Amino acid sequence: MWGRLKDFVLQDVKNENEIKMYAVILRMGLLVMFLYYGITMTGAVMMNRSASLIAAGVGVLLSAVLFGSTYHNRTKAAAVFFILSFSVLILVSVLMYGNYTGVFHFMYVQIALLYALDYMPFAGKAVSTVLLVAFRIGLFHYVERVGTFYIIDNDELSLRQGLHIVITCLLLLVIVSASTQDFREMQEKLVSYNRKLQNIASIDPLTGLRNRRSGMEYIREQAEGYCNGETKALTIAIGDIDFFKKINDTYGHNYGDLVLKTLADAFKNFMKSRGRVARWGGEEFLFIFHNTNGDEASYMLADLQNEIHQMEFRMGGDTVRLTMTFGVAEYDLRREADDTINEADQKLYMGKAQGRDRIVY
Ligand code: GH3
Ligand code: MG
Ligand code: MG
Repeated sequence: MWGRLKDFVLQDVKNENEIKMYAVILRMGLLVMFLYYGITMTGAVMMNRSASLIAAGVGVLLSAVLFGSTYHNRTKAAAVFFILSFSVLILVSVLMYGNYTGVFHFMYVQIALLYALDYMPFAGKAVSTVLLVAFRIGLFHYVERVGTFYIIDNDELSLRQGLHIVITCLLLLVIVSASTQDFREMQEKLVSYNRKLQNIASIDPLTGLRNRRSGMEYIREQAEGYCNGETKALTIAIGDIDFFKKINDTYGHNYGDLVLKTLADAFKNFMKSRGRVARWGGEEFLFIFHNTNGDEASYMLADLQNEIHQMEFRMGGDTVRLTMTFGVAEYDLRREADDTINEADQKLYMGKAQGRDRIVY
């Protein structure tokens, strides 16, 4: 029962452009008002006050209409009427029972709603706030002069004060908790959306490796560390699969993709403790060796080359083996990172020209 009520109140608005929080604030606020009207109607019946009973009855009907309209794309109109309804309520209550029942507290709810339901520019909110205050002062003085419809004793006054304080606190609680909850949800949504965007922008979808842009970013970070003296050496290598076109031509592009993915997993694993690997493009990969000089990186690549030699790709009845050629260049302070990459690229092409399946440093 409680769960169903919760789902009903928290139900999203139909129109995508409407903010769910607004509807939730209105619905919960109106539920509190049903409670308020319920109590005042009971009081009116007990004390045999027909005018008060009729006024509360009208309040219930109006609240029911507003409640329903939050489910039918009428949140904005409902919000405006909800805020205004408090002015009517204050007016009627003060005319009936006077200035000291605490019904004026509802003015704070109106102001809180005005700012929480962000339908108005700030100037509009400021003017509305001034009008509400003027209304309160004007009404106070008017009733002081003309007197009230019912005369109530001190006990009833205390009861009404208590009721208005409790209801006002409940309404403020609804407004504040719904707004902060929504704010938190929005922040979480933004953070996870940002993470998703960052992933899309930096990960190669086929291999799951960093893409070229993200590889460059890592090089820039590492180069910075090298300049600051945090890293003692930095080496970049570009590796290109030998005769990869033949794999595609013989076994199809999908099989080529599978080979790229399998190799990428092996590279990632291999580079885990050594630095990073990125897909530089097509069947070329960028290896960034952190805290490693050119000689050390070349030895490491020889290990990787051995690993590649031992890999067997099975396709139909065939067993396919691959080789790769690597160009290696060590970063130094006298030149840009791009120059180091260009050197690695030139060495790669030297390796291809020399017959492939080698590491050129
Ligand atoms: P080399 O030894 O000179 O590097 O020969 P190669 O055949 O590897 O070189 P080439 O540059 O002629 O061909 C690279 C091939 O890589 C061509 C292209 O179809 C293939 N390729 C590039 N990106 C992808 C991809 O994402 N998936 C698949 N399946 N193939 C790709
Ligand atoms: Mg190739
Ligand atoms: Mg190539």
